[in-house]
This record gives sequence, C-alpha cells and structure tokens, in this order.
Amino acid sequence: TTARFADTVAKLPQLNRANPHGLPEVAFVGRSNAGKSSCINALCNQKRLAFSSRTPGRTQALNLFAVGPVKQPEPLGFLVDTPGYGFATASPEAKRSWQSLAGDYMTRRQALSGIVLMVDIRRGLTDLDRQLLTWIPGTLPLVLVLTKADKLSRQQALEVRCKLCRESVIQNREGPVLVQIFSALNRTGIDPLREAIDILFAS
Ligand code: GDP
Repeated sequence: TTARFADTVAKLPQLNRANPHGLPEVAFVGRSNAGKSSCINALCNQKRLAFSSRTPGRTQALNLFAVGPVKQPEPLGFLVDTPGYGFATASPEAKRSWQSLAGDYMTRRQALSGIVLMVDIRRGLTDLDRQLLTWIPGTLPLVLVLTKADKLSRQQALEVRCKLCRESVIQNREGPVLVQIFSALNRTGIDPLREAIDILFAS
C-alpha cells in the first residue's frame, strides 16, 4: 500500500473534485503538536507527506492523501488531514474558519467513514478534544490514538489508556471505538492502526 498527496481543499464543495467517486475518507484531527503529521507520515512510510502544524501555509485547509495498492490507479480511500486546533493564540477569526471547514466537514460529510483523534499520551483528553467528541456524529467509528507513547513506560501508557476508556465522552459513543497506544518514533501501534484504517476503508 502506498499513499500520495492528492489535493488541498479550502472549501467543502471542492471535496467533490478531490474525491469524485465518494470513496471512503478517514479524518485525522487533534490539537496542534499532538503528533498528527508524524503519525500520517509514519503510516504512509514517508518523511514529509503531511506537514507539521508548525509549517506555515497549507494549515487552514484539508489535505487529502490517496491510499491504495501500488499498481492500482483507483485508491481504496483518502486520509484527510485537518488543521490542528487549540493554539492559545488563535484569533476568533481563525477559530471560526476552523469550525466552518474542519467542523462542518466532520459533521456533514457523507463519505466520512471514521475519525482518528490524536492525543498526546502525557496530556490525555483536553476540553477541546471532549468538545469535538460531543459534536461529531455518535455513530461514526472513532480511533483514539495516544501519541508519543515512547515518553512513558509500557505500564504508565496502559494506565492512561485504561483511564481514558472510562471517560463518558468515550463510553457514551454508539459507534465502535479503538483506543490505540502509538509512537511515530519507535513505531509502536502502527500495524493495528493501519489495520483499523483498512477496515474503515472497506466499510
Ligand atoms: P502536529 O502538529 O500534530 O502535526 O504534530 P507533529 O507531528 O508536527 O509533532 C509535534 C512534535 O512532537 C514534533 O516536535 C515531533 O517531533 C514530536 N513527536 C511527534 N510524534 C512523536 C512521537 O511518537 N514520539 C516523540 N517522542 N515525539 C513525537
């Protein structure tokens, strides 16, 4: 399987140009700096496919990466990188533009097959993450990726995971939930995450 950059979309109607056949899309969301672009790059075995939120440009847009077998022209689906949220310095205007792009995308997009929410394992869920979880459709499959697990011991990581699974925003979801310990640095959790995405693409 490979991934290639497919398109940048600044307005939702442009998605129909990027994905004309309505193939499954899996959205990657999370606070800035949570490790989202490192995760996408690790999943796709590429160094600089997705850009870090610290990279200027390309940030207030959805970036689509087509994923599929090497020799097949038609991809299986798209990974959709959304702008990171939660910068303390974000202006009201930047917050509105995030909401009208990424927010509307996650609540209205028909082709959306699942959400991958990235959370720094040392930080756990923040109020912004909880807010997001309350307004994305409850039936949408969720993969909660606990990033930077190399910063904790295995035992500590399992404890965080356990605590998180008991949070009401997670327990109250109707759709399937996978909470995955992950590290882009030592590639912990990469195979189960790939498998989960394959399942989302096939559903
Ligand atoms: P984004 O803003 O969510 O796209 O986050 P980035 O992927 O750019 O990562 C933010 C920072 O965390 C960078 O300094 C990365 O090097 C670091 N980082 C990302 N993933 C990992 C990881 O798995 N382990 C460690 N130790 N650091 C990571």
